[in-house]
Amino acid sequence: MDNPFLDRSFQIPWSQLTAERVEPAIEAALADAEAALARLAALPIAAADYRNTFLALEQATELLNEAWAKVTHLTSVADAAPLRAAHNAVLPKVSAFFAKIPLNAGIWLRLKAAAAHPSVASLQGEHRRFVDETMADFRQQGADLPGEQKTRLEAVQSELAQLTQKYSENVLDATNAWELLVADPARLSGLPPHARESARQNALKKGQGTEAAPVWRFTLHGPSLEPVMLYAEDAELRRQVWSASAAVGCEGAQDNRELVKRILALRQEKAALLGQSHFADLVLQRRMAKSGATALAFIEDLHNRVTAAFTRECAELVAFKAEQTKSTPAPLAPWETAYWAERLRRTRYDFDEEQLRPYFPLPGVLEGLFEITGRVFGLRVTERPAGAVEVWHVGVKFYDVHDRAGRHLGSFYTDWHPRESKRGGAWMNYLITGGPRAPHLGLMCGNLTPAHGGQPALLTHREVETVFHEFGHLLHHLLGEVEIKSLNGVNVAWDFVELPSQIMENWCWERAALDLFARHHATGAAIPEALFQRMIAARNFRSASATMRQLALARLDLALHMHAAEYAAGDVSARLQTLLRTYLMPPVPPAPTIENRFTHIFADPTGYAAGYYSYKWAEVLDADAFTRFQREGIFNEHAGRDFVAKILSRGNAADPMQLFTDFMGRPPDLSALLLRAGLA
Ligand SMILES: [Zn+2]
Repeated sequence: MDNPFLDRSFQIPWSQLTAERVEPAIEAALADAEAALARLAALPIAAADYRNTFLALEQATELLNEAWAKVTHLTSVADAAPLRAAHNAVLPKVSAFFAKIPLNAGIWLRLKAAAAHPSVASLQGEHRRFVDETMADFRQQGADLPGEQKTRLEAVQSELAQLTQKYSENVLDATNAWELLVADPARLSGLPPHARESARQNALKKGQGTEAAPVWRFTLHGPSLEPVMLYAEDAELRRQVWSASAAVGCEGAQDNRELVKRILALRQEKAALLGQSHFADLVLQRRMAKSGATALAFIEDLHNRVTAAFTRECAELVAFKAEQTKSTPAPLAPWETAYWAERLRRTRYDFDEEQLRPYFPLPGVLEGLFEITGRVFGLRVTERPAGAVEVWHVGVKFYDVHDRAGRHLGSFYTDWHPRESKRGGAWMNYLITGGPRAPHLGLMCGNLTPAHGGQPALLTHREVETVFHEFGHLLHHLLGEVEIKSLNGVNVAWDFVELPSQIMENWCWERAALDLFARHHATGAAIPEALFQRMIAARNFRSASATMRQLALARLDLALHMHAAEYAAGDVSARLQTLLRTYLMPPVPPAPTIENRFTHIFADPTGYAAGYYSYKWAEVLDADAFTRFQREGIFNEHAGRDFVAKILSRGNAADPMQLFTDFMGRPPDLSALLLRAGLA
């Protein structure tokens, strides 16, 4: 147990966390957890009470959780072959260990006995919540099923894991298999210089073209595809790229159509085994929405409210293209929409993200973020001097968070810029869960624009929002006052977890908040009023169309998971096209639907399946909750204190709808979202 991965001290010895220590550490932690579970399963049933069953179950995996968090964290920030090999060697054991717990009949028997014990029956607050959540967790994973049905459930799970893996490989392979080589520079007209340059470099890397006679290589990956769809004046180029991307998952060896049907059938069978009428009800029973019907009603209501504005935006785009091309108005082809929308945006607002960049040097953004945190939540964030704390990379920084009374609530690392050994995107994670008596430890990572040419890192406004967003998740962890670690912080329902993060983004759109930190890196000037006004005006450009796009995906997801049998019986795409008629701008020619390349809902046994609505759901929560700050003042301490007391510190200690209602004094209201999006 002297392996540094098992060292539970607050100062993590990163330099000692080497690849060859991963396997022995995880093996030892697994053995420790197995032994604790075996003791629990052997407990005399009559003696089972809250402490020796529920709390013992919670503590059984603590050491393993902490050690494993360090391993997975390192794979995302310091990827290297030996580490990856060590991680992959233990991953199946760790997954299998956690999957087996709810199916362990000995433990389940003792939990049921303890739940009936008078000491448990009278529990209140978070301890009551913990018992209820644990029982629901076990039941939802099949603990109550008779033996042969448990066996069938395990077989269904394992087939789902294989088929969803295959689905995702098909999407990846089909995406990678396609390329378009362009030799005529006239076809590149309209593309921004960075898109041309990366297409040229991409070709060179593949041995195509030379410095003297360049060719340009386009692929279906986002950074290559998006500029083409937005900017390429050559409509035939856009058509070729769009057609290829629409065909992903529908052709040849990477055809996902039968897999979709089989995955839907297996999910339906799983739901039925567990006593639910469909997969949406199974997945949502413990989320805020509670049922497929509620999520569906939410999506349909929003659809109806947005329809008029959506229809207006579609007509406007048709008219704009007709005017620009001096032709008669006609429906747009699917490869025309993004292009003409971008042209309309530039014509109307004369605004792009680059104009704001000089006002957002990263050090200033962080200072502003911590200043806002101080004013609103009464927290003091201080950076440790470089070298005072061990970190995993020289660019990583370490901060402490104290409250008004000087109590150390927690600490965190930041790791902001891209490296080859680091995964993409931005994220928050935690390493140690403390609680009312011990500090928490977390981190936030990103792939933000790095510093160069003697200037600080200058961020886009979208990147500033990302920093605020991840810090919101981090506060959710660091401010947790829950005694039960598995109920702390971000361990909440999927359709609630984005409330603390998304609400922080609102401060990035407020003049008074921006004035605290958005200063020109060279001159120190605040954002000029005219530029600020253009940024605000452009914010809601075609927002009904953007909303409808998300609603269409959510509607499709719910339809498939509430009516799996009907869809599996026929032509899935044809049915979905009919279903989504009023959600999509009717393109000519008609476009296939996305289900054969929709990795959100099909690349994982569960993933976002039946949960895509959560994106919009959480936006309703954050827009609505922010109205308290708009009313009481965006730096109002009372509202901030309430947000900490009723949401951030509570984790999953109570039902999320209850937490939200405690903060707002009423259930969520979607009018704030519509107002913010300019759709009210
Ligand atoms: Zn998030």
